Formats: sequence, C-alpha cells, structure tokens
Amino acid sequence: MTPPGRLRYRDTVELLLSPLARRHDDVAAKTVAALERLARAVSHCQWKQPQLAPLRAALLAELAGGPQEVRTLAQVLSVRRSTVSRALTQLRRSGLATPAAVPHDRRLRRWELTPAGRSAYAHSTAWTAPLMTAIQALPVRHREALLHSLLQLIASLVRAEVVAPTRLCLTCRYLQPPGDARGPYRCHLLQQPLPLPELRLDCPDHLPRAG
Ligand code: SF4
Repeated sequence: MTPPGRLRYRDTVELLLSPLARRHDDVAAKTVAALERLARAVSHCQWKQPQLAPLRAALLAELAGGPQEVRTLAQVLSVRRSTVSRALTQLRRSGLATPAAVPHDRRLRRWELTPAGRSAYAHSTAWTAPLMTAIQALPVRHREALLHSLLQLIASLVRAEVVAPTRLCLTCRYLQPPGDARGPYRCHLLQQPLPLPELRLDCPDHLPRAG
C-alpha cells in the first residue's frame, strides 16, 4: 500500500503526462504554462514586424543602454566573444554601431550605437506596444507585484545558473532587503530606498552578490 501523502507510480506518470495548464491544483505548473503562453505571445508580436537577426537585435538593445565592451556583451548575452565581434562588425557595416576609444585605456574599445542604430533600435521595439498596453491596464499594485515576482524568478534562475548573470538589483551586493514585508528595499551604494517600481533590471553599478 502507498503511504499516505505519497503518489503511486501510476499517479506520478499520469501527473507528468497531463498538460501543465490542466494541473488545476498545481500553482507552479500553471505558472510555467502561463509563462509559456506569454513567451508565445511575445514571439508572435515580435514576428509580426520585420526583424533583425536575434543576436543583432539583442546587441542593439544592450548598446541602447550605453557603450559596452565585447567582453561584457558576450557575458550578458551568453555567447562567445568571437560571435559578438562578428555580429558587431555586421552592425558596423550597416552603419548601426561603431567602436569608440576609452579615455583611460587606449587599447580598449567600447561599442556604441550610431544615430541610425538608435533609430533602428526604437523601430525594433514597436512590437512591445500591445504588451505594454496590457500591463499598463493592470491596477498599480498588481503591476508592481508582477514586476517583483518576475524579478524574483529571474534572480532565482540566475542563482541556479539557468539564466546568464544579469545586472538586476535582486542579485546585487548593494541591495538591502526590506526590514518588513511592506518596507522598501534599499541600495547601499546610492544610499536611497528602492520602492518596487524602481528596482532595476539592468544597473551599470551592479556588483554580483557572493555565493
Ligand atoms: S547598485 Fe544598482 S543593482 Fe545594486 S542595489 Fe543599487 S541600484 Fe540595484
């Protein structure tokens, strides 16, 4: 007889074969199914407009935040430096990005967008409009809770090494958690509170937390 609270082999197999979205008592399974649907919605919106190749689009998005070295871009995008260098060379040939010297180190180059690159990036984000509208229609506290949950999920996947390290507050050494459930986070570096809407997903001052 199966001890109480433990699933029989047949139940386990049936559970694994049942679609995630139909596991009505399983919040984690339904959340994964919901994220999968959202990923499909994102892909659908993206493919409805003419697209750059995925890596070129990702590089435009990274460089839109400011000049970056090849090494950093390769780390953030989880691809080889040689792959990044080739894609940047293509962006340079298209007139969208250019390398610039770094004042304190003449050997170093940081890539930045040209005016045409900034315009291409702005055009490439038009697909986000329907999703932005849907999110902005949510009540403020739901919107903030959604952002917080997604950031926590990403931080957890970064710690599990499923997602490449990104410069978000929740994996930063300078972040001080809220003193109680309702209080804000606080940034030691900036010496200021960070309410939920101000938590960063990509901060240039980020310092990875040890361990
Ligand atoms: S340094 Fe940046 S990433 Fe780190 S806690 Fe402060 S705002 Fe967040």
